[in-house]
Amino acid sequence: MRIDYLRVSVTDRCNLRCIYCNPLGDYGLMQRDEILTFEEIHRIVGLFVECGISKVRLTGGEPLVRRNIVQLVHKLAAITGVEELSLTTNGVFLEQMAGELKAAGLRRVNISVDSLRREGYRLITGFDLLEKVTKGIYKAVEIGLTPVRINTVVLKGINEQDVAALAQLTVEMPIAVRFIEYCPTDKDTSPASDFVPNSRVRRIIEHNFGPLSAAITTDNNGPALYFRIKNSAGAIGFISGRTTVFCHLCNRLRLTSDGKVRPCLYSAHHYDIKELIRNGADDERILALLEKIIAEKHRYTKLNSPAGQFSMRNVGG
Ligand code: SAM
Repeated sequence: MRIDYLRVSVTDRCNLRCIYCNPLGDYGLMQRDEILTFEEIHRIVGLFVECGISKVRLTGGEPLVRRNIVQLVHKLAAITGVEELSLTTNGVFLEQMAGELKAAGLRRVNISVDSLRREGYRLITGFDLLEKVTKGIYKAVEIGLTPVRINTVVLKGINEQDVAALAQLTVEMPIAVRFIEYCPTDKDTSPASDFVPNSRVRRIIEHNFGPLSAAITTDNNGPALYFRIKNSAGAIGFISGRTTVFCHLCNRLRLTSDGKVRPCLYSAHHYDIKELIRNGADDERILALLEKIIAEKHRYTKLNSPAGQFSMRNVGG
């Protein structure tokens, strides 16, 4: 398996307070000097590319709240060997920033939306910003930050009623709506009992739209399995991290906002690259560690080294 995908969390700050991710908002944020600088991110990504990484996704926290993020996009897109640069966002600032992001070299976006009802959206995120996000989705499609994917986490009794409306988007628009199984991460996020398996989400969709198609092309080793509603323009994806095991297919590494490389989202194991860099390590030394991380990636999975509590906003989802 070629490990060619790196997710980079560029900040642990977020402008939303999603109950399953960042309910306490700015409480417990890292000090500014703990977060990687753009120069450090650029250097680390460049070295990863020498080790075979060709797809890079920026995430957070909310990447669009990091000051001068467009400059970082520009710098990373210019690295020879970065074939695909993408970003995962809550979409609040997307309408205003989509044009400059695209011009800087961003290829496509994933946008997180858990409800298409104004009140439902406010209940989950803490803010009345659904209209802004919706405009961001249309803008991304319009200017070609495509294929656009919507990410939705379904929680019991909170947004199960939104599943059909979200799935309906794929009937009308050439986008993918992906249902991500909730992963409880700590004592402050939604309780584990809010978990809804994707088998149930699928039943809701099929109840409303009829049987889904057989699986269609997948994410190039990504965790999502895609299907279609009959005669639809887009696709429905399921990312079933709780009820299935796809570790053997996983091609991704994660760089946290404070400079640690995690070989697995669900494993506590990590390597501290920032410490190495700030202690003056040369490229050769860092490359040796990155090669080791890639060679050892499949040793660490949720099955053999569980993460325990962790912060999704630091790791980047
Ligand atoms: N702020 C951006 C956003 O909203 O997409 C990027 C960061 S967010 C941590 C990345 C993804 O992780 C989002 O799609 C979000 O829904 C997902 N996520 C966050 N917490 C999660 C959890 N506890 N279980 C499953 N997915 C989660």
